[in-house]
Amino acid sequence: MALSVDKSLLRDLPKVDELLQHFRIIELMRDNPRKIVVDSIRSSIDELRCSILDGEYTGTSEEIFDVVLRKSINRIKWSARPNLRRVINGTGVVLHTNLGRALLAESAKTATIGVASNYCNLEMNLESGKRGSRYEPLEELLIQLTGAEAALVVNNNASAVLLALGTLAKGKEVIVSRGQLVEIGGSFRIPEVMEQSGAILVDVGATNKTHPRDYRSAVTGETALLLHVHTSNYRIVGFTRETTVEELVELGSEYKIPVMSDLGSGFLVDLAKYGLPKEPSVQETVAAGADVVTFSGDKLLGGPQAGIIVGKKHYIEKMKKNPLTRAVRIDKFTVAALEATLREYLDSHRALQNIPTLRMLTEPIDIIQRRARTLQKKLRNRLNVPAELQIMPGISQVGGGSMPTAQLPTIILSCLPENMSVDKLAINLRMGEPAVVARVQEGKFQLDLRTVQQGELDMLAEVMAKVINTGEVT
Ligand SMILES: *Cc1c(COP(=O)(O)O)cnc(C)c1O
Repeated sequence: MALSVDKSLLRDLPKVDELLQHFRIIELMRDNPRKIVVDSIRSSIDELRCSILDGEYTGTSEEIFDVVLRKSINRIKWSARPNLRRVINGTGVVLHTNLGRALLAESAKTATIGVASNYCNLEMNLESGKRGSRYEPLEELLIQLTGAEAALVVNNNASAVLLALGTLAKGKEVIVSRGQLVEIGGSFRIPEVMEQSGAILVDVGATNKTHPRDYRSAVTGETALLLHVHTSNYRIVGFTRETTVEELVELGSEYKIPVMSDLGSGFLVDLAKYGLPKEPSVQETVAAGADVVTFSGDKLLGGPQAGIIVGKKHYIEKMKKNPLTRAVRIDKFTVAALEATLREYLDSHRALQNIPTLRMLTEPIDIIQRRARTLQKKLRNRLNVPAELQIMPGISQVGGGSMPTAQLPTIILSCLPENMSVDKLAINLRMGEPAVVARVQEGKFQLDLRTVQQGELDMLAEVMAKVINTGEVT
C-alpha cells in the first residue's frame, strides 16, 4: 500500500516572516548574520515541504510550526560553529600534528592575547623611539639558552632549512648521509627541499651505515656544506653507523666547510632522566661545534610554530640578509608566544612545570592514574545507560615525528556502552562540542589520560555522558 500523502498539511507550513518574529529566532538574530538566519529558516521549510510531499511527515498540522522552528534553530547553530574547534586529545600522542601540535604555556597564551588587539613595540625600540627589530629580543634569549653566537627565527623549521641551505649552499654541493634523506610528514623531503634551495645534493654512504671517510671522499672544491639531519621520525636499528656531528665538525674544520645540523624536534631540557630516549639537545649540538642548528618551535620545545636557527654569527648574518627571510618572517603572535616560552626555560624547573608538552611527557604515572579514576567516577555519576568503564595500562607517544621509539607507560580509560557501537561512539564524540578524539582499539573506545588536561575532566565527562545517554550527535 502506498503512503497516503496529505497535501493539506502544506497549507500549515509557516512563512519565513512568521518565524523571524519568534522570540527564539530574534534572540539568535543578535549573534548571527541575517542571511544565515533567513537561509536556515528557508531550508528548514523546504525540508519539511519535501517530507510532507513524500508522505514521511507523521506529525499533526499543529506541530508543523514547532518542527520548522526546531530545525531552523539547529541549522543556525550549526552554521555558526567555526570550522576550527576545540578538541580534547585522548589519543595519548603529545605532539599530535593533526591536532595542532604543542599547547602553549599560560605565559605564552597571555602574551599572545596581549598583542592580539593592542598595539605593541614589535619593531620599535621604546627607549630610543627608533626602529627596532622583532628578532632581537628572541635572539638574545636564544643565545643565552643555547650558547650559540647568534640566532634567527622564521615561520617553521621547513623554511629554516630552506633558508639555511639557500643562503649557504646555493649552486654548491651539500654532502648528506643516505640514511638521513628523510621525509617529514606533509611531503617535506630533504632531497626536494635541497632542490628548492638551489643546493646540489651529494648523498653518501649506505642506508644503514655512513662513515666519516664517506663524507671525506665526497668533498670537492664545490662542497659548501656538510649536513646532518636528525632522523627524528624513524630509527634504523641493528647493524648501523651514523657519523656524529662531532665527526663532521672535525672534517669540516679540516676542509674549512661549515656543518649544519637539522635537529627537527630540538629541545633545551634533557628528558632522558624521565625515561625518554637520550637524544642530543640544542646546547649539545651547538657545543659539538655545528655552525648552524635548526629546530622547530612547536615540537619538543613546546612553543608556537616557528623555525629556530642558531649558530655562528657570520652565517646567521648572511641568512638575515637573504630576501627569503622576509618571505618567511614570523608575525607578532609568534614573537610574543616564543619569547614567553623561552623565558620559561631560564629556569628548567619552571619549564618542566609550565610548558604543557614537557609536563605531559614527564608526568608521573600515578597522577595520570588519578585523572583516569576521577574521569571514571565523573562519568559513572552522569551515565544513565549501562557502559563498561575500565582502567588499564597503555602506551603514549611523543608524536610530531619525535622520539619514535619512546614508549611512555600511561593509563587508559576504556569505554564500551551497551546502547551503541564503539565506532558510532567515536564519530559522535568527534562531532561533539568540544570534539573528543581518541583511539578505537580492541573493540573499545580508549582514552589516554596523559594528553587529557586536568581542567578538561568535567567537560569530557559531560560530553561523553550526553553522547552515550542520548545516543545522538550532540
Ligand atoms: C619536523 C621536522 C622538520 C620540519 O619542521 P616544521 O617546523 O614542521 O616545519 C624539518 N626537519 C626535521 C628533521 C624535522 O623533524
